[in-house]
Amino acid sequence: PEGEPLVRIEKVTKKFGDVYAVDEVSLDIHKGEFFSLLGSSGCGKTTLLRMLAGFETPSSGRIFIDGVDITEVPPYKRPINMMFQSYALFPHMSVEDNIAFGLKQEGMAKAERKERVAEMMSLVQISPFAKRKPHQLSGGQRQRVALARALAKQPKILLLDEPLGALDKKLREKTQFELVNIQERLGMTFIIVTHDQEEAMTMSSRIALMRDGRIEQIDPPRRLYEFPSTQFAASFIGSINLLSGYVVEQTSHYVTIQSEEAGGLLRVHHSQPLVAGMPVTVAIRPEKCRLIPELTGEPNEVSGVIKEIAYLGDVSIYHVDLPSGKRVQFTQSNVQALAEQPLTWEQTVHLSWKEDSC
Ligand code: ADP
Ligand code: MG
Repeated sequence: PEGEPLVRIEKVTKKFGDVYAVDEVSLDIHKGEFFSLLGSSGCGKTTLLRMLAGFETPSSGRIFIDGVDITEVPPYKRPINMMFQSYALFPHMSVEDNIAFGLKQEGMAKAERKERVAEMMSLVQISPFAKRKPHQLSGGQRQRVALARALAKQPKILLLDEPLGALDKKLREKTQFELVNIQERLGMTFIIVTHDQEEAMTMSSRIALMRDGRIEQIDPPRRLYEFPSTQFAASFIGSINLLSGYVVEQTSHYVTIQSEEAGGLLRVHHSQPLVAGMPVTVAIRPEKCRLIPELTGEPNEVSGVIKEIAYLGDVSIYHVDLPSGKRVQFTQSNVQALAEQPLTWEQTVHLSWKEDSC
């Protein structure tokens, strides 16, 4: 994205006692983005979101919206709303009263309020439950009410803290698409917190992967998956094989690596200069490995014995022990496996992958 960012977070740090919950985080978010903060529990996602909302003040650093410094602006004066992880619905109020609450406080006229509430209920498909109280709703319906309430004030930016965390897997997957659909229809900017990499991959235009209060990498999902910039990022998103070795030689496009773990030479598409003898790690996704009938002596080939098979319906994951003792994984579509000879436990297999897929 180009142009002035909608949100600019500049070297923001939040300390709780001796703990750096958020540690010098800088990032830009643009209008209309579906932006995810992804990371394991305790890495600082919620704290960063709460600073954006204004519920926490940074220990240092600044936050800008549309170029205006809002670091000291109270929550209710920010063009931001937040949907909490717990939903925080008022238990004694009906669905429509819950959604109307913020609008009423804002002083919106009754007729307009009614119209807006009806619009929001229709948007999240809860109109038939308008008169119900939260305890008369399922988890998924409560989640929708919370979303409708957060959207009702039509904030520029909606913050969502683990919005789908309380839903079961099927409903979560369905709701992921609905959230994206709603966000696109409203043209609003969503910033979402999740620890679930698949969820972040499915929904986001960009993902900020966090680790120990810091940003590890910010990229669109595909780029994060295909070009992880660190071993942590490579292992956090999906599974990956890591083979270590040292640089033997480099041409303008390729690096050749001697790897004891792989039991031979590796060749990788890489144009940044490396020094001969330098230790490196090559990362290969399991689905990039292809079965070959026998070794040909080219780089990027390994042989090993299948030690575990995980059948997942559409694909199977095979765990293979190489002679060096290193265990690697490869996946194969089960459609393909049915057409060929099925692979079995303790079978010796030969694998290869391309220079540009690692
Ligand atoms: P996440 O949402 O990624 O799970 P949090 O932002 O909730 O992480 O927490 C980040 C770190 O800051 C954790 O170590 C947590 O214990 C600590 N922390 C969060 N809020 C507070 C607080 N109010 N007081 C003290 N420590 C806190
Ligand atoms: Mg959290």
